Amino acid sequence: MTALTERPLPAAGPDGVNPSRARPAVRALYTRPALTAGDLGAPLLVLPDGHSGAGSLPGAVHLSDVRRTVNRWSGLGIGGVKVFVLGHDRDIAATAAVSADNLMVQAVSAIGAAAPDLAVTTEVCGCSWTSSGECVLRTRAEDIDLDATYRLMGEMAVQHAEAGADVVSPTAMLDGSVRAVRAALDDGGFRDVGVNPNLAIHTTLYGPFKALMATDPATGHRRGLQLEPGRAQRDAVVQARRWIVEGADSLTLQPVMTAVDVLVRLRADQEAPLVAYSTSGEWPALRQLGSEGMTEYLAMLRRAGADHVLTFAAEQVATYLERNPG
Ligand SMILES: [Zn+2]
Repeated sequence: MTALTERPLPAAGPDGVNPSRARPAVRALYTRPALTAGDLGAPLLVLPDGHSGAGSLPGAVHLSDVRRTVNRWSGLGIGGVKVFVLGHDRDIAATAAVSADNLMVQAVSAIGAAAPDLAVTTEVCGCSWTSSGECVLRTRAEDIDLDATYRLMGEMAVQHAEAGADVVSPTAMLDGSVRAVRAALDDGGFRDVGVNPNLAIHTTLYGPFKALMATDPATGHRRGLQLEPGRAQRDAVVQARRWIVEGADSLTLQPVMTAVDVLVRLRADQEAPLVAYSTSGEWPALRQLGSEGMTEYLAMLRRAGADHVLTFAAEQVATYLERNPG
């Protein structure tokens, strides 16, 4: 008889199949769904009624179509929506960003009425509302006016919270802005509204969004407010820690198609919930994958460490998951 120490490695299961994969009941014991509709969030790009850009990206809709759209998403089990609006009445001080009943207030109110189960996140940034298309306000000498920008972002956050936002998302990576937004929310009595700032890497993958929402600065660029691709892994970790210290309770990384390495690195460093934002420039490529391929891509982002995936493919993938359970 062969001594135990001389026995060969255990053989595979019947037909070479590993026991943990052999029977459906055992697979079910050890595995969880790679992706569910509840993991997904959909960007909602709200346009004034009559604007010609509706339908140019999934989720780009007129204000009057917001209710119908979020109702459909909620019915599919999609977990959240992130609201961006095409700002109107733009001026140098972004006055309309905090005007009563502006497009953001109307959109958030409409979502709350139509789909109260959806988690609502709003973008807080100047670029939809400044005549320059810049994220920040400037002094006469063209320096960033920090106080005025912080004040604007704080007021926007409170206004969005009053309209029903669950989370506000400061978009420009301006140090001090998360602290300012957190303080404004606390002072306004909105301690339970979350702050989810960005870790935004410079990329061409914001293109379709910027073109539709007219948020490209008229002159120059915003690389000072973004992470440099060549340093993105380390800089994202540094910035994420800073945001947490300033009062962030979750974080968004964008884009992800060209930054999965950054997502993995962030996950290893951060316990806070991470949102992976598959940005507008990823959509034409995702489309080529078809529903099944898109689903695999988004599942990969979950596996790589995202707690939540914000994607223009949300509705198509949620529909696919509904039709193809398991
Ligand atoms: Zn901006």
